Amino acid sequence: MAIGIESLFTSALGLSAPWRVENVNLDTARRRIDFDLTCDAKRLACPVCGLLDQGIHDRQKRQWRHLDFFQYEAWLHAEVPRVACSGCGKTTQAQVPWAREGSGFTALFEALALSLCRELPVRQAAALLRCTDKQLWRRIEHYVGAARTLDDMSAVRVIGIDETSLRKGQNYITVVHDLDKKRLLFACEGRDHQTVVNFAQDLQAHGGKPEQVSHVCQDMSAAYAKGVAQALTQAQISYDRFHVVAMANEAMDEVRRHETSTQPQAIKAALGDNDRKLLKSLTWGMRRNPDGWSVKQTNAMHWLQHSTLRSARAWRLKMALRTVYANAARHNNATQAKSELKAWLSWAARCRLAPFKKLASTLKQRLDAVVRGMLDNRSNAYVEAMNGLLQQAKRAARGFKTASNFIAIAYLRMSKLKHLPSNPLERAVPKYNVLIHRCL
Ligand SMILES: [Zn+2]
Repeated sequence: MAIGIESLFTSALGLSAPWRVENVNLDTARRRIDFDLTCDAKRLACPVCGLLDQGIHDRQKRQWRHLDFFQYEAWLHAEVPRVACSGCGKTTQAQVPWAREGSGFTALFEALALSLCRELPVRQAAALLRCTDKQLWRRIEHYVGAARTLDDMSAVRVIGIDETSLRKGQNYITVVHDLDKKRLLFACEGRDHQTVVNFAQDLQAHGGKPEQVSHVCQDMSAAYAKGVAQALTQAQISYDRFHVVAMANEAMDEVRRHETSTQPQAIKAALGDNDRKLLKSLTWGMRRNPDGWSVKQTNAMHWLQHSTLRSARAWRLKMALRTVYANAARHNNATQAKSELKAWLSWAARCRLAPFKKLASTLKQRLDAVVRGMLDNRSNAYVEAMNGLLQQAKRAARGFKTASNFIAIAYLRMSKLKHLPSNPLERAVPKYNVLIHRCL
């Protein structure tokens, strides 16, 4: 028995009674395929109160964009019944099974769009799907919001708090990660102590207990420490490697900048003709690990180490601090780590380089928390990885870089939310495999 094209598409679209495909119209010139759907029911249940067998008041024409059919853009059209209820007295449009209320996209199209936005910048995803980025942002916010409502944070015990900025030095966002589950828990604008209080409230709203948080890994911000003391009363703070080494890098850069601006003649004389380029190689050579040096950087760094410049001392101090951290990770011995760190602090305090003296005093004031951070590999590697993901999220939000867009895309990509729709194409793959195996 031959199957009509309409009933073929009725099952391909996953429709069941009372809905079916009534008409299929393929327009090759416009690269479009249009499906007219119809609802055979004469009476329906009330969408509001559920009362069965209610009369249909009228039907309203609506359309939805669907997943492409090969190279054709697919659209669904239907006259959707409005049910006049004798029970609650309301006249309400019936729910259609292929789309959520009010959306001009089918649920499968939205699920695909969401999957693309996890991998691509939103603008690029919109171009691929031939829709506007605004339409995608609205959907990201809707689905992320819905999935976060159902998110379970009851097991959260170890967190990392960090700040990031949308523009250099402004539009700060505070991000809180679960360091055990390695996922983003919370993000909000600002970087004051209130952000930590806001997190504690959000944690409670998702079944978590602020007093259950035992360990917070963060940067040196006094504001975060204040927030932790106020809202996460049982938590012990530690300062992770990433932030401490970043501070040492900043101190080193400050010494180099100061020296190149106050003693340019001495440096230029030592560097020879090609000074501008060598100076650049020097800047990057000092920041980078020796195993990542280019030939030019190796030459510049070789020259630096044989000079009597303050920059050379600053670089040695930074490298020594890295070694202290590497040793702590290798031996995992708190006493040894503490004594090596103290030795470094006393060197830095005597080094006659103001930025390092300042850094030494900052670290000394928080010695125990710094040592805790030295031994905590769980947070150290993760905080660095998360920074990379946050940068990607910023690129994804480019052109629409408002705080709420950035936060939504960060949740979509980094929160491991369990209640998001899954990619319809990925789900389809195993089915096709089954078909292929059957054919063979
Ligand atoms: Zn009703």
